Amino acid sequence: MSTSVLVINCGSSSIKYALVSERREDRIFGLAENLGSPEARIKGITTGGQELELSIPNADHEKALETILERLSHHNPQAIGHRVVHGGTLTKAELLTPEIIERIREATPLAPLHNPAHLVGIDATMRLFPHLPQIAVFDTAFHQTMPSHAYRYALPKFLYTMHNVRRYGFHGTSHAYVSERGSQLAGSFKQGGWLTAHLGNGSSTCAIWNGQSVDTSMGLTPLEGVVMGTRSGDVDPSIHSFLASNLGWDIYKIDKMLNSQSGLLGLSDLSNDMRTLIEAADEGNEDAALAIEVFCYRLAKSLAALSCGLPRIDGLFFTGGIGENSALIREKTLAYLPHFGFNLSKENNNALKRGTEGRIDAGTGPQIWVVPTDEEGRIAKETEHVVATLEHATTKKSEAETEVA
Ligand code: AMP
Repeated sequence: MSTSVLVINCGSSSIKYALVSERREDRIFGLAENLGSPEARIKGITTGGQELELSIPNADHEKALETILERLSHHNPQAIGHRVVHGGTLTKAELLTPEIIERIREATPLAPLHNPAHLVGIDATMRLFPHLPQIAVFDTAFHQTMPSHAYRYALPKFLYTMHNVRRYGFHGTSHAYVSERGSQLAGSFKQGGWLTAHLGNGSSTCAIWNGQSVDTSMGLTPLEGVVMGTRSGDVDPSIHSFLASNLGWDIYKIDKMLNSQSGLLGLSDLSNDMRTLIEAADEGNEDAALAIEVFCYRLAKSLAALSCGLPRIDGLFFTGGIGENSALIREKTLAYLPHFGFNLSKENNNALKRGTEGRIDAGTGPQIWVVPTDEEGRIAKETEHVVATLEHATTKKSEAETEVA
């Protein structure tokens, strides 16, 4: 990478940022959190690996971005890449124009928590840096290669044709990066059939054939699929009418329960954090042990189901906070998949150091790798690609105009 790109990920009360340049070790990154409150602050890593902690009382998104950008302006970023969760049917990263911003706004009903926050960040950076190219990179875009039999729900057709009700998939930048890097490590760059398990506070699985997503566990929203920190993943959709009829719950209460009070937190009645649950289970907490078991079993089930999208399975990549760091979760999950021929090397699995990539199978069966994700790096790369394509098109156009003149 020859330039530096500022990557912005705006949430409802926080902003993650990273200045991505050629060497990963030189990366400057941080998090502005508690925005809009007296406790607003920026925490991160600055030049030379120095820690940064800065209080910005009552700062809103724009003020926080202004502070972040002021501190980074002497690094001369050449472009800004925005992470946008839902791009609707947009299939690739796009230059932010009024039309593209409108398409992001139109996708808001599909990502009501995420897209409005992204739009606030986009609006602020456009006003603060009108001269810099700004690119939107969508979590959904990588999955736009799914065939219709994978992305359609078995619901009345008009819900798809008139209201865009279909499976979209998320965590696309992570699945794209990890499958590309992993297949490169395995010596078959973007070739063959791979499964990815992105396991963090949000988790999803993906099936990738020759570098393209062919199916994924998340759907219309990031609630579908495997068990997550606070999200239920798949449940019988009749839970809505059951809770409404029997407990008198309204749709908002049910939605909140499924998104914020379920998953590992709901099962354990203790925590959404896998580390806490592993420690508690070690100390004999049965609810924590059950939460871990459900997580691994349902994850294995999802991987087995997604394998139907692949003509063959060359291997599996683990990533995300849990996938990269927990040998226990990897081992427990694979224990449910012996009939797929997965053969884990317990020694390699346990020996893998935090944050490192490595192969953990015993040399027979499909390969098994741990590949730390790099969503910021991937967003920066896609941003650079869009900028380079636009520059190339501008040069060609002015050459053609000169010839005509
Ligand atoms: P992420 O959303 O990718 O940052 O991942 C957050 C999740 O990773 C949390 O549930 C953490 O408990 C989990 N995690 C991080 N380190 C470990 C670890 N060493 N063992 C188990 N889980 C971990």
